[in-house]
Amino acid sequence: MAIQIDNGARELIWTAEKTLADAFLRVDAIEAVTSQRVLEAFQEEGVSARHFAPTNGYGYDDIGRDTLDRIFARALMADKALVRPQIVNGTHAIFLAVAGVTRAGDTVLSITGQPYDTLEQAFGLRGDAPNSLTANGVKFHCLPLKNDGIDISAAVETVEQDASVRIVFIQRSRGYSWRNALSVEQIGAAITALKKVRDDLIFVVDNCYGEFTSAMEPTSAGASLIAGSLIKNPGGGLAPTGGYIAGRADLVDRVAERLTIPGLGAEVGAYEASYRPFYQGLFLAPRTVNQCIKTAMLFARVFECLGYETMPQPTAPRSDIIQAIRFSTADELRSFCRAIQKAAPIDSFVVPEEWDMPGYSDKVIMAAGAFVQGATTELSADAPMRAPYTAYMQGSLTYAYGRLAAMLAAGSVTLERTK
Ligand SMILES: *Cc1c(COP(=O)(O)O)cnc(C)c1O
Repeated sequence: MAIQIDNGARELIWTAEKTLADAFLRVDAIEAVTSQRVLEAFQEEGVSARHFAPTNGYGYDDIGRDTLDRIFARALMADKALVRPQIVNGTHAIFLAVAGVTRAGDTVLSITGQPYDTLEQAFGLRGDAPNSLTANGVKFHCLPLKNDGIDISAAVETVEQDASVRIVFIQRSRGYSWRNALSVEQIGAAITALKKVRDDLIFVVDNCYGEFTSAMEPTSAGASLIAGSLIKNPGGGLAPTGGYIAGRADLVDRVAERLTIPGLGAEVGAYEASYRPFYQGLFLAPRTVNQCIKTAMLFARVFECLGYETMPQPTAPRSDIIQAIRFSTADELRSFCRAIQKAAPIDSFVVPEEWDMPGYSDKVIMAAGAFVQGATTELSADAPMRAPYTAYMQGSLTYAYGRLAAMLAAGSVTLERTK
C-alpha cells in the first residue's frame, strides 16, 4: 500500500521549498542558540545515568526529579522550575501557576484576551465548577488584543485604577485564534510598562507551543512564571506526559505547594518509570521545534500558493509552532485534517470526525496519529468546526515526514475543490 502522491502536489512542494531557504537558515540560527543553552544546562548540572533511575514511595531525595527541575530552569532561563509527570497537561500547569500565586480577593488581569478554551472552566469564566478560581473568590478581567498586540495603555490604565490586580496573565501562542503569537520582545515591553506602575505584579505566561521557537524565553523579559506542557515543545517528542512551571524561585515554591502539599512542595513525588525520556526529550527539543517550524513554513507557503489565507505568513518570524490555514468550506477543512491523519505513522487508517470534546465550546475535528497520545510536536491538526474554517496544524518530529504530509494534504484539498 504505497503512499500515492500526485505529481502536481509534488511539484508544488518543490517550488514552495525553494522560496524558503533563507527563512530556514534563520530557524537554524535559533536552534544553534537554544541547543547551546540546553547542552550547557546538562553539563552544569552534571547529568549522568543515575539521574534517569526510577523512584517509588514518597520520592524523598529523588535526584532524577530534582536535577530535571534544575536543567529545565537553566534551559528556560528561569531561577527555578517544577517539572513533573504528575502535572497532567498544559492546562494543569497553567492553572497551577495562576492558582498557586492567587488568593481570594485578587484580580487576574489577562492582557491577551480570553484565555485558551480549556482554561475557561478552571478559571471559572465558563460553567460552575466549585473549585474554579472565581468560585474561590478570585476575579478575572480580560483585555482584548489590539492590532495583533497587547493594548499596553489599556493595561496600564486598568492596573492604575484597580488595586486588586495582582496577577497579569499573558498567552504567548495564538491558540485557537486568528492572530500572531506574541514575541518575547512584545511580552517584555508590556511587562516593563506595567512594572513601572506597580512593581509587585506577578506576570504569568502561558508558554504552550512557544518554548525554543526563539532564542529567548519570556522569563528573560521579566515574566515571573511561565508554564507549559511536556507533550508539546519542551518534551522534544519523547516525554510521555507531564508539564512544567518555571520562573522566580519563591513563586515556583508556592506553585509546588499547590501541586502537592503546603510544607512539602517539590520534595515529594516519585516516578517509577525512567526519567530518561524527559532528559532526552529536552535535549532534542531545540531540534524538534526547528523541524516543526520548518514544516509550518512549508504548509503556509504551499497553501498560500493554493490561494488560501495563512497565519502566520510563510517566512514571518515565529513565536509558536502553530500554523493556521483558512479554508473556504467545512469539506475542505475536513479533507485537510483527514490527509494529515493519513500521513501519520500511528492510526493512519482512522478517519477523523468532528466531536464534542470536553473543555471546548464548539465541535472539534482533530487529526493526530502520534506515539504519545495527543502530542502536538508530532504532526497534528485541529479545528473547531465553525466558520471561517480554520485549521490549526503543528508539529512533525522531522521535516521529511512533515513534507510528505504537505504533499498529501495539498493533493487531497485540491481534489476536494474540484468536486
Ligand atoms: C495546548 C495549550 C494549552 C493547554 O494545554 P493542554 O496540554 O492541551 O492541556 C493552553 N494554552 C495554549 C496556548 C495551548 O496551546
